[in-house]
Amino acid sequence: MELNNTSWQQQLAEAFTDLNDLCRHLNIAIEDLPVLADHKAFPLKAPRSFVDCIEAGNPADPLLRQVLPLQQELSDLPGFSADPVGDLDALAEAGVLHKYQGRALFIMTGACAINCRYCFRRNFPYSDVQLTPQRQARAIAYLKTHPDISEIILSGGDPMLLSDDKLIALIRQLEQIPHLERIRIHSRLPIVLPARVTPALLDCLRLCAKPVVIVLHANHGNELSDAVKGACGQLKNQGVTLLNQSVLLKGVNDTVSALCELNEKLFSIGVLPYYLHMLDKASGTGHFAVSQEQALLLMNQIKKHLPGYLTPKLVKEVAGAPNKIMIS
Ligand SMILES: *Cc1c(COP(=O)(O)O)cnc(C)c1O
Ligand code: SF4
Repeated sequence: MELNNTSWQQQLAEAFTDLNDLCRHLNIAIEDLPVLADHKAFPLKAPRSFVDCIEAGNPADPLLRQVLPLQQELSDLPGFSADPVGDLDALAEAGVLHKYQGRALFIMTGACAINCRYCFRRNFPYSDVQLTPQRQARAIAYLKTHPDISEIILSGGDPMLLSDDKLIALIRQLEQIPHLERIRIHSRLPIVLPARVTPALLDCLRLCAKPVVIVLHANHGNELSDAVKGACGQLKNQGVTLLNQSVLLKGVNDTVSALCELNEKLFSIGVLPYYLHMLDKASGTGHFAVSQEQALLLMNQIKKHLPGYLTPKLVKEVAGAPNKIMIS
């Protein structure tokens, strides 16, 4: 177990963080690409297990596009801003978002295993609001005194970046709160770093006194490698419900075939599609935007190809709204 644990952390330490290294590794001529050389503010970060799913020599690869800093990020577009979601206005306590009825969300960390260029986090590392160990006791106390909260969502950044010890200790505390009906974890780690699914974590999930839901974040079928399939199979064997949410991204998954393949492949590895999110309009992400009109056209097409249970719900986040908004 110890060995396995070291190994995901080591893999994380070996993630690509240098543009030249990444391009050389993928046999892509960096001179031909409009890359953003200075991207220190939101650095390049891509684990090797994710990079292994990128097609060498293809500068338009849909996975590469998710991690490649481009000059287009500098364009200031109307409607795009630093905090498009307005989440930070909804903090109930440091690290606790209680915005939606019956559900509260813990910001476990500001960090992720991968830096997705389309993410709203690019402008907000979230580090000053994350749930430090000192704040955790207060957050648990908040849950205990709010019996209307029936679901706790562990989010971030990526909550699975916490060590097994920390994550397991937290789950042990949460499962003892009588009015909590479910524990939900939002993570991209089983997709981008499947080695994170350790035996210790699997044991904890199997033994958890409350039903556990893990919402994965995969955007393209090519992300679902054999290793990811293995990790999902193991999670499922522990009785975890596996769902997926994607972001609709221009040049990544904005075609009927990409979306159908993603959702069918998800099912084949035991994961049900949940949400297809419109892009949050964070500064620097405009080149990923798909219009609502185009999104609806795509949805109408994929509904023709997929059974209802494999069709994700198209949603968008609206600052200040009491829930996510369905688009139909
Ligand atoms: C999306 C979201 C939730 C959960 O919403 P569901 O519709 O239940 O998936 C909870 N809290 C915050 C802050 C969210 O952004
Ligand atoms: S929060 Fe999700 S989308 Fe944003 S960088 Fe982290 S893994 Fe990527």
